[in-house]
Amino acid sequence: MAPNLDSYFSQVDNLSDHFIERLRQAVAIPSVSSEAARRPDVVRMGHFLADELTKLGASVELRELGPQPGTDLTLPPVVLARYGSDESKRTILVYGHYDVQPAEKSDGWETEPFELTVKEDGRMLGRGSTDDKGPVLGWLNAIEAHKVAGIDFPVNLLMCFEGMEEYGSEGLEDLINLEGKKYFADADAVCISDNYWLGTERPCLTYGLRGCNYYSVEVSGPGADLHSGVFGGTAQEPMTDLVRILGSLVDTDGKIQIAGISDQVAPITAEEDGLYDGIAFTMETLHESLGSKTTIFEDKKSTLMARWRYPSLSVHGIEGAFSAPGAKTVIPAKVIGKFSIRTVPNMEVDQTNAVVYKHVEEAFKKLGSKNTMKVYAQHTGKWWVASPNHWNFSAAAKATERVWGVKPDFTREGGSIPVTITFEEATGKNVLLLPMGSSTDGAHSINEKLDKRNYIEGIKLLGAYLHYVAEEAIV
Ligand SMILES: [Zn+2]
Repeated sequence: MAPNLDSYFSQVDNLSDHFIERLRQAVAIPSVSSEAARRPDVVRMGHFLADELTKLGASVELRELGPQPGTDLTLPPVVLARYGSDESKRTILVYGHYDVQPAEKSDGWETEPFELTVKEDGRMLGRGSTDDKGPVLGWLNAIEAHKVAGIDFPVNLLMCFEGMEEYGSEGLEDLINLEGKKYFADADAVCISDNYWLGTERPCLTYGLRGCNYYSVEVSGPGADLHSGVFGGTAQEPMTDLVRILGSLVDTDGKIQIAGISDQVAPITAEEDGLYDGIAFTMETLHESLGSKTTIFEDKKSTLMARWRYPSLSVHGIEGAFSAPGAKTVIPAKVIGKFSIRTVPNMEVDQTNAVVYKHVEEAFKKLGSKNTMKVYAQHTGKWWVASPNHWNFSAAAKATERVWGVKPDFTREGGSIPVTITFEEATGKNVLLLPMGSSTDGAHSINEKLDKRNYIEGIKLLGAYLHYVAEEAIV
């Protein structure tokens, strides 16, 4: 099955120095999307990708997205590319991003962040190495290894690489919606490589993400901030009301106290339950990354389910509250509490908002306060779950087993990757998240790295996935 993979793999090994060199060139371009002064570098990175793709024989378009709202900057282009247009082959659409998070040596990096440094232990340090330049170049490298080895490329590959992911993917959603039935029209499935293994040893395929609804609760009363020595005991205090409202939302064990939330959560199926059993994850690792043993659950399964498939409510902060050190005797006139709910199937945004508003309004009413209260959603984002039984996933599972010699874990993530839903809705096709890097890569922090092993085997994995995609029965 999947012939030619051995010669593809050995070609990837032969070219590994060249592939690391390509990553070095990419990392050297400081394409930080959030810094205005770096915008020319972001654009340069888009052109670098376009040039590399053109050299490999892909047809490439740089799509301009116009001005960046609220600034005098121009958005960097989206790189759209196609490699192959054989109607007898399947077409896979892949997404990645070529911009990176900010980085300065003085932040505490052990090496220059924009110089890829390959350590003895195989760590390749550099901003963007794992997020997301390594995975993006993985697709280019897979094309090149096929060409050099003289192996027919198994699918048509559509590519969509953006340069604003680390700054809210400005302009991308409109482009994807516009191209869903145009540039992306013949895509049979979508693959995104922009997340990480759950640990460091076992590869995973990701089939779900939680959504996020973010709320503000505003309580106001006095016309201006007051002094407690003068007005304490004379006026009803907004902060007192707010703290009591926030305190009613969730308990110490994370149980959401809002009536009507748990009714919206999909019941667990036996099949889903089974996916959790063998997952490579330990409570020790969790304690390590928490930096404490203050976990809600003592066991792995409940913990993973609480992170991936149940909603959670977090209280984030209070705007307008006194938060500096010291003992200022202020009575804040207006305070805004912030909390969010990570949402899961089958919660609907409007329904969730409705029960949240009802709970907060009733909690405030119970206080009998003369202050004024307003509750509203600042932003909302839907959860996403794909079928891990789809051929897109089974192809990736076979490829993983072939490359890494183990069956992948099927994982979800507690956070959001909004572009996933955008692609799913615009194309109507199955979306797979196929990570290259591991949990210790430090995507947004200092000393970001991609292990050489994950890069090289990851290039094999992406190529092997495309071969298995070509073979999976059409259902
Ligand atoms: Zn990323």
